[in-house]
Amino acid sequence: MSKTLIGELRDPDTKIKRKVRIELDDFSGQIGIHVQGYGDNTSGDDFGEPIVIDLHDNKLQVFLWSDINNENPTHKIDMTGARLDKRIEKDSDGNCIYCGQKCHNGEMCDEQQAGGFNHNKAMETQDDA
Ligand SMILES: [Zn+2]
Repeated sequence: MSKTLIGELRDPDTKIKRKVRIELDDFSGQIGIHVQGYGDNTSGDDFGEPIVIDLHDNKLQVFLWSDINNENPTHKIDMTGARLDKRIEKDSDGNCIYCGQKCHNGEMCDEQQAGGFNHNKAMETQDDA
């Protein structure tokens, strides 16, 4: 059973509102976002979802169709850099808090892995969901 969340976006300056429909599709396993007045190339005006969030090869991705005349996504955003295990914990000198050195290359250093800090943090987040 797919799940749909209905709401509205509100512009705080102009007070303009647009209806929003966020759909978690059980078949595709994707999240699609429809905003009133916006669409994609191949869908009817009230059904287009120019923003899609997807998990593929264990990677969170966001697809955007910012041009309604283009069938293909105009933007594909790989969210790997936002993963919890990509967070670099630095001290006030900019050094890694686990090994005390400039080990930042987008991967956990051995000391951080041994501490398991981000792994535990990720598990807590899943339990909350
Ligand atoms: Zn380190």
